[in-house]
Amino acid sequence: ATPSALLVGTGRGAQLGILIKGPEVLESTRKVDTILLDKTGTVTTGKMTLQGVHTAPGTDTDELLRVAGALEDASEHPIAQAIARGATQRVGDLPIPESFKNIEGRGVQGVVEGHLVIVGRESMLEDWSLTMPVDLARAKAQAESARETAVIVAWDGEVRGVLTVADAIKDTSAEAITQFRALGLTPVLLTGDNRVVAEQVAAQVGIDKVIAEVMPQDKLRVVKDLQKQGKVVAMVGDGVNDAAALAQADLGLAMGTGTDVAIEAADLTLVRGDLRAAADAIRLSRKTLGTIK
Ligand code: ADP
Ligand code: MG
Repeated sequence: ATPSALLVGTGRGAQLGILIKGPEVLESTRKVDTILLDKTGTVTTGKMTLQGVHTAPGTDTDELLRVAGALEDASEHPIAQAIARGATQRVGDLPIPESFKNIEGRGVQGVVEGHLVIVGRESMLEDWSLTMPVDLARAKAQAESARETAVIVAWDGEVRGVLTVADAIKDTSAEAITQFRALGLTPVLLTGDNRVVAEQVAAQVGIDKVIAEVMPQDKLRVVKDLQKQGKVVAMVGDGVNDAAALAQADLGLAMGTGTDVAIEAADLTLVRGDLRAAADAIRLSRKTLGTIK
């Protein structure tokens, strides 16, 4: 491939809303056969809203929202922001946590008004050897079958409630998946979110391979494993937790609407956050390289 022909390709990319790090990127784009898609912020909008508020017996709804909202307000995770916003709307100003710690891929932990609080996935309860009250477990299961993500709130050694959040699937995602298949790529949904939610989203956009409940550091391993099996892997993501996998992938694509860390790790940026631009990029590189053999 001559450099000038490749640069024509990258110029056309800019018109399509694709930023390409360097012309050499197009070469790996051509050979891709598998495309891993992060869920939150990539296939879905990532703009979550608080849906359900379920308290354990003896816990006050406003207090649940105050305490959980205060802790989540310190986190930048889209789930955390939805909870903090929803809590503020319902109970007003939130207290400032006395301490705060982010537990990657699981949730947050800290002290709010003297209570030692955790907010996050159910697996966090294992750290304190807590089990879910039956009513809350039921509320959680119900929310998940409705494609909502359930977040557990516990403090001072007791489970206090379940908050559920949901975000919308981008209306361009299903069409993008159809285009990936037409290009001969196998789409795979890769997410830290729970399996039930992940499978619901996958079904709605036409993906039949789902790798769910993946810890951030394991996204990288999934990419490496596929590469060991001889796959040429593209990965599309938006989050800090996607950065290592984006860098490892044969082709890393970041959502322009995502975090700077993801954009820096990727080879290509889909400026408008429209997944169809990933299909455009692959088509463009095949065409560009095809004409200059
Ligand atoms: P994804 O891969 O979908 O972008 P993450 O790896 O960031 O998700 O998080 C995995 C899961 O951990 C989330 O779906 C959520 O259940 C839980 N989680 C992570 N951070 C938080 C938080 N700040 N508050 C509540 N839950 C969280
Ligand atoms: Mg994400």
